Amino acid sequence: MYYKSNFIYKIVDQDFKLKKCTKIHTRFPPEPNGYLHIGHAKSICLNFNIAQKYNGKCNLRFDDTNPTKEHKEYVKSIKYDIQWLGFMWDNTARYTSDYFEKLYAYAIELIKKGLAYVDELSMYDIKKYRGTLTKIGIDSPYRYRSIKENLIYFTKMRDGGFLEGKACLRAKINMADASVIMRDPVLYRIKYTSHHRVGKNWCIYPTYDFSHCISDAIEGITHSLCTLEFQENRRLYNWILKNTSITQYPVQYEFARLNLTYVITSKRQINVLIKNKIVDGWDDPRLLTISGLRRRGYTAASIREFCQRIGVSRQDSQIELSVLESCIRNDLNKTAPRLMAVIHPIKVIISNFPEGYEEKIIVPNHPSNYNLGTRFVIFTKEIFIDRFDFYEKLDSNFPKLTIGTEIRLRYAYIIRANHVIKDVNGNILAIYCNYNPHTLNKNPINDKKVYKVIHWVSAQKNIPAKFHFYDKLFTHPNPSTVRNLLNIVNPTSLISLKGYIESGISFFKHPGPYQFEREGYFILDHQYSKPTDLVFNRIVTLKKSSVR
Ligand code: ATP
Ligand code: MG
Ligand code: MG
Repeated sequence: MYYKSNFIYKIVDQDFKLKKCTKIHTRFPPEPNGYLHIGHAKSICLNFNIAQKYNGKCNLRFDDTNPTKEHKEYVKSIKYDIQWLGFMWDNTARYTSDYFEKLYAYAIELIKKGLAYVDELSMYDIKKYRGTLTKIGIDSPYRYRSIKENLIYFTKMRDGGFLEGKACLRAKINMADASVIMRDPVLYRIKYTSHHRVGKNWCIYPTYDFSHCISDAIEGITHSLCTLEFQENRRLYNWILKNTSITQYPVQYEFARLNLTYVITSKRQINVLIKNKIVDGWDDPRLLTISGLRRRGYTAASIREFCQRIGVSRQDSQIELSVLESCIRNDLNKTAPRLMAVIHPIKVIISNFPEGYEEKIIVPNHPSNYNLGTRFVIFTKEIFIDRFDFYEKLDSNFPKLTIGTEIRLRYAYIIRANHVIKDVNGNILAIYCNYNPHTLNKNPINDKKVYKVIHWVSAQKNIPAKFHFYDKLFTHPNPSTVRNLLNIVNPTSLISLKGYIESGISFFKHPGPYQFEREGYFILDHQYSKPTDLVFNRIVTLKKSSVR
């Protein structure tokens, strides 16, 4: 396996050289408050790949310290998605909630050292007293409680003696610190919601800042990788480790989070879309959740390739969606069998083809990947072609079928269009053509003409289907910066069309992905499809320019 170098690998190399560590241990720490998205994939690939490359370990740790938003359903989906992406964590999955007793003991230790106190200011006042970048903070009136008092009040907090929001535990650091984060950060808050694992055993919950560094230390994590927003929290991370009896020091490093144009990667914002029924769940094929991408037809390999391509740095940037699309296209171009499907059908009647005759033509499933084998397509007197491949009169140089001209049907014959019949409104009902019976997969003798090739499906032997065409969910390239997402929803992010696919394939057994020739890559949508009503998701177009 090839690992593209990045600044974290360089740090690790250096750490080994200077004997700062002898093994690598990373972790991926999702909060189980939603499904994983493409941003998480970046972090997953980074953490698990480092462990693989250096023969180390990577833990999966659920950062479950906020019971109001966390559910077992999310734990299950996160485990599934990580394995689907091709990674497996060391040992069993861990939970911050496994360490609640230990964390509590470290909090007591800080209180006993005079480094933490129970504050009874409201959350509003805590924020106000904390000050801003340009205004130093003010001490809380509860800051100077004795150690004895603090021990009593912290026990009272644990025992449910305070209402929610009426008390919290804060570190006693420095209310005048240049960094607002260091101005007596909150370590514990009260929540009476039942927790998905510990139930009602606890009513106080450690904050991210308090629990993360200690959990890392408990698990023997060497390199704790997080996104740049936590850069300033690193000082607090180190302060807590230094001021408790912990002896093993993990080191936090930050990298730039993944931002994609036209995409939101925030569980909270995805939830807004679900609640407002803009999408039909966490796995809606338009979402860039791992489950949405999977349902859309993205392969795990293409997502890993994407993470490799974008690399890891400390530079914030915005990646174009086309980078992800190009990864799946490259993957499917080599691996997806090809089929013919007509999405905007118009009927062609071949006047000189025998009535009732079905010609079976053997065709390759892929032009160069012969491992994909062959299949039969059935040619009949009546077929469908795409209506955009026919013009009554040719008004451009672009080769199309027109009255009096010829075109090649993919894998089959050259046909010539003679006339059309129309309904009372002037819509074409059928195109009457003749075929040249000597042109099955070959040109007429002495013919140098280059024929345009179009796809087709038998009008008598086919499988009707719906095709879902997806577009961006938002009309704004930077949706996460817009206050009300509902104002920038793209009304045509899903277009559904009815057409036909060649017969002979049991799509429930073989859902794809397929390339429908000239149309793009598609996969059966298991959720929308019924045995008699198939729905295919378009994964991606063939080329950027081939969008119709
Ligand atoms: P969200 O805002 O969607 O809830 P989060 O950062 O709160 O995301 P967590 O479950 O806490 O989600 O994240 C687990 C890990 O995934 C963290 O280490 C976090 O840094 C990383 N991560 C989350 N989003 C991104 C992203 N867009 N790019 C890179 N890493 C990310
Ligand atoms: Mg979070
Ligand atoms: Mg977040």
